[in-house]
Amino acid sequence: MSPLAANAGRDRLRIAIQKSGRLADPARSLLAACGLSWRESRDRLFCYGESLPIDLLLVRDDDIPGLIADGVCDLGVVGRNELDEQAAERRRNGLAPAYRELRGLGFGRCRLMLAVPEHWEWRDAAQLESLRIATSYPALVNEWLQAQSVAASVVELSGSVEIAPKLGTADLICDLVSSGATLVANQLKPVETLLDSEAVLAGPVREPDDARAPLAAMLLRRLDGVLKLKDSKVLMFRANAEQVPGLLRLLPDAEPPSRLTAGVEAVNGAGAMQAAAESGLLSLQALCHGAVTWQLLEELERAGAQGLMVLSVERSLV
Ligand code: ATP
Ligand code: MG
Repeated sequence: MSPLAANAGRDRLRIAIQKSGRLADPARSLLAACGLSWRESRDRLFCYGESLPIDLLLVRDDDIPGLIADGVCDLGVVGRNELDEQAAERRRNGLAPAYRELRGLGFGRCRLMLAVPEHWEWRDAAQLESLRIATSYPALVNEWLQAQSVAASVVELSGSVEIAPKLGTADLICDLVSSGATLVANQLKPVETLLDSEAVLAGPVREPDDARAPLAAMLLRRLDGVLKLKDSKVLMFRANAEQVPGLLRLLPDAEPPSRLTAGVEAVNGAGAMQAAAESGLLSLQALCHGAVTWQLLEELERAGAQGLMVLSVERSLV
């Protein structure tokens, strides 16, 4: 019996990830950070979950939305670009939504952008009237054109989109851009963003109502713990009580407000602050959600912090 058939029951969760490509390794690492481990099968199409009843299916990224829609997989890690394109395609065919984005995962970031020949003077979308746009994302481009009330034609290409203007098969392109180097190499410049993309965890519109539901909920909770603390550090130090407000002001400044909250929580929270009786100093710890640089440490020291220590955060349930 094939591993797939052997696990066709509804008491194991099945997650589709990219077999190889940009999203493959980060997707696996993220799931491993959530405590999942797998027994590899020789063909590496299916990985049987060992630590938990959560299996992996390794596929092409284009197949992931369809596998979720068909109920073959319960969850998938896929680029928002791919998920949204296939959702737009379903809308165009009058089909009901079949999947939804559960979490942005923070890797595989790129943008779906219109790019025109370098020498064009770009004003707005009205310029595109009657032109030809080469893209691998025809459904998203068509929806965007419709929203702009522009009648342009879409030339669907599965790869090497950026060369189409040079070949004369299109006037401009709409493609994924991360660094922009490919555009520059092809004498193109980006002018409009249709979509900000990253890898996402996708799931079906309707959640399962069997043993997979608590498994999925547990995975999401662990995932939130991992994502929230990604790049976070615990900063430990000692200081006099009167120096604390000044030190906290140094912590949140250049960062989102969550850092200030974390700092204040840490100072006010039970267990986070213990009096160091013998020295008369307070022991403090603050959860920092941004970079804790050498410069920041030196500023804190000048403001009265002693014994500064920066610790990595591995996991948390908060
Ligand atoms: P597969 O063989 O699985 O179909 P692929 O060639 O379609 O692979 P990759 O090139 O590995 O896919 O890209 C996977 C995803 O990585 C894209 O769908 C997108 O979400 C993301 N990505 C990030 N940056 C870029 C980029 N510069 N170009 C293309 N994709 C990018
Ligand atoms: Mg693909």
